[in-house]
Amino acid sequence: QERPKEAENKEKIRQNVPSMDNLRDKSRKSYLKQRQLTKLEELKQTLNEYENNLSNLSDKELQDYHKKTEIFKTIQGALQQYEVDIPLYSLPEVSNTNKKTKYDLLHQNHYKQEQKESTNGKSKPGQYAGEQWEQEQFNRAKQISSVNTDKINLPGQEKNEFVFDESQYVTFDSGDQLTGDKDPETTTSSKVSAAERTSIDDVRKSLPVFKFREQFLEAVKENPVLIVVGETGSGKTTQLPQYLHEAGYSEGGKKMIGCTQPRRVAATSVATRVAQEMDSKLGQEVGYTIRFEDKSSDKTIIKYLTDGMLLREFLNDPELSHYGALMIDEAHERTLSTEVLLSLLKDIVRARPDLKLIIASATINATKFSEFFDKAPILNIPGRRFPVNIHYTKNPEANYIQAAITTIFQIHLTQPLPGDILVFLTGQEEIETMEGSLNEAVAKLGSSIQPLHICSIYANLPQELQSKIFEPTPPNSRKVVLATNIAETSITIDGIAYVIDPGYVKQNVYNPLTGMESLVVVPCSRASADQRAGRAGRIGPGKCFRLYTKWSFYNELELNPVPEILRVNLISVILLLLSLGINDLINFDFMDPPSNDTIIKALELLYALGALNSKGQLTKLGRKMNEFPLDPMFSKCILTSSKYGCSEEILTIIAMLGESGTLFYRPKDKREQADKKRETFNHELGDHFSLLKVWQDWEATDYSNLWCEDNFIQYKTLKRAKNVREQLARLSKRVGVESEIDKTSKEVPPLMIQKSIVSGFFPNIVRLSRMGDSYRKLKQNYACFIHPSSSLYPVKPPPRMILYHELVLTSKEFMRNVMVVDEKLVKEFGSHYYSIKDL
Ligand code: ADP
Ligand code: MG
Repeated sequence: QERPKEAENKEKIRQNVPSMDNLRDKSRKSYLKQRQLTKLEELKQTLNEYENNLSNLSDKELQDYHKKTEIFKTIQGALQQYEVDIPLYSLPEVSNTNKKTKYDLLHQNHYKQEQKESTNGKSKPGQYAGEQWEQEQFNRAKQISSVNTDKINLPGQEKNEFVFDESQYVTFDSGDQLTGDKDPETTTSSKVSAAERTSIDDVRKSLPVFKFREQFLEAVKENPVLIVVGETGSGKTTQLPQYLHEAGYSEGGKKMIGCTQPRRVAATSVATRVAQEMDSKLGQEVGYTIRFEDKSSDKTIIKYLTDGMLLREFLNDPELSHYGALMIDEAHERTLSTEVLLSLLKDIVRARPDLKLIIASATINATKFSEFFDKAPILNIPGRRFPVNIHYTKNPEANYIQAAITTIFQIHLTQPLPGDILVFLTGQEEIETMEGSLNEAVAKLGSSIQPLHICSIYANLPQELQSKIFEPTPPNSRKVVLATNIAETSITIDGIAYVIDPGYVKQNVYNPLTGMESLVVVPCSRASADQRAGRAGRIGPGKCFRLYTKWSFYNELELNPVPEILRVNLISVILLLLSLGINDLINFDFMDPPSNDTIIKALELLYALGALNSKGQLTKLGRKMNEFPLDPMFSKCILTSSKYGCSEEILTIIAMLGESGTLFYRPKDKREQADKKRETFNHELGDHFSLLKVWQDWEATDYSNLWCEDNFIQYKTLKRAKNVREQLARLSKRVGVESEIDKTSKEVPPLMIQKSIVSGFFPNIVRLSRMGDSYRKLKQNYACFIHPSSSLYPVKPPPRMILYHELVLTSKEFMRNVMVVDEKLVKEFGSHYYSIKDL
């Protein structure tokens, strides 16, 4: 029974929350109830078993029996009075552990490596290990940005202006082999058939999964959960959802077949392909949903979506009742969202026998999934895999970009055509640098070599350009694809025979002890390296050139990648789980539970942001934060801005921050001009305000394309920001963030904007060090530097305190997008987070 006071409070809350919340509250409860009911069912079974055999139980079993009886009673009790909220998780004490985090270990590795080098007489005695590493990283970065295309060395064509000196070649060893399951002899027949394939239907039938269609559908019918393992390119992602639809799991269009992807690019590219295969317009029968972009409709039957978006669908539909079947794809990637999905789905499939769950993975780690899902069966789809010869460099390569370019030309000039080249790089910046250098070199070489077509694929690449990688290579030429690890397993590019692997990957690394997260380029794992190599063996025997030594491969690369859940900040996911009513996070059924430190740190931050109360319960503010598909720190800024009358500005800044990386461009022949234009947007308070100025000026021209051209700004980027902004504005309205009515004439004081931003980003404050050469994070004595791309770089005198948007570790720990803040503001918004000593 509810006490009158409680009932009254509840009624008050009910009146105050928007109807959306009420709805969700209801479904959350039904979800909770379902969970509890399933648990109860499980317990009942165990207890029955014990009871049938009571006299023979050992002491331990007897104890277990009593314990489970208690739990049974408690849950039963809770279910009876379901209208009363169950007590929520309360914040445990923060333990002061000395545990080494992945982050520390990572740095240590670098130090070790460089200590090794220091014995070669490279380092000065007494130099602090980290400093030297920084120096080396810095030098490397400098080299990367200044690749000299004149130094590309090609064999025996004296006429050319290049130095064609074979001694400059990257030297590789004779090579290991990654064995395939195909005979090299079958190559030719496969190639012929590829050329013969004409209709899309033939292509579909030629994929390895096709032979397993019946077996797959049979296994789906018999089992609630099925694990499908198959080589990349065997047709899992594009075909299996279609098979499920054809077999009726979409119930004639009443339900959807969902397929998740960890990457946005994969979701959009695969959806485009499947729409073609099903001969329908994208967004109709086949659609996709990624953050800030929904190309699906009422008609959609097969939907590709990012794992993060499916996770958000739980908020409105905790049983995912719109889906008849779900495929969690690329499960081996173990992204944070996929992992949380798997945990939630484990419960749902028990409650919903009509839902079919397929977990698809490349050839790593499958048994782990099977075990997690109570020994679910594994269907193996043997792929086409030809042997791949692996070559390592004989010596470590100092500049892998230069080495990769040289290797591309080595391959191009010595290996037969056709046979395309795939290069694995770490990110957009690197890809663009290399694309520039390669194009320059190709232009200089002119007709002295067979044509090379250079194209690239990375997460932020505009969709129109993505399809270029799939275009067939014209005869007597070669395609070079520069890709991030997207091409490792999520996207298959036909025709690749050579892979160049520098052995690096860019990752988010989080240190729960300091609460700092940054993007870092780290060596990839051996499993990734082998996946990369495998891409060369799809059409015939291939070759993989690893730009590191065999010794490094075995001694410096880890066996498997570290699951994301163990190395990122969990705040968004934890807020989501809490709103689903999952409060006991420490005992939540994770495949690999994150450290308690990480969970506690996230709860602390949510508390500091006002999303949780001191009992660890979700507040109204916390619920509202969840309406936004954003990091809660951003959502907080938006929610605060309504109080200071600057929501419009904050929405703009947030939308622009997301696109700031590709905003300005510098054409080769007009660099100075472009830089000058860019400077005109610089604002004394920093990048947040500079971005706002760009937007406002653009808005004033009625979103002109010409204005963008004049200012060396990418029109497409601004259009994307506009779209994001519109969606955020819609969501803001839904949660009751006021947009001011007659603000055309009023100029918002910058202080209001600063306040709103500090209210969400108070953990990211740094203070100028006493020496004045760097910034130190409050609470920690950790040096950070303003990124050279910032409008505050280099400002003299440097501001005393700034707030950063993100950290990027390259040659140094750089802060990208920074804003000047006043100490008073930090006190106003961060006094509950920092101690007096920190301030
Ligand atoms: P898997 O998921 O098993 O790795 P996919 O279903 O992604 O395999 O790929 C099957 C085939 O479909 C591959 O040969 C690939 O080249 C082709 N394919 C996938 N996406 C596209 C696309 N956007 N354009 C052209 N071909 C594509
Ligand atoms: Mg796939």
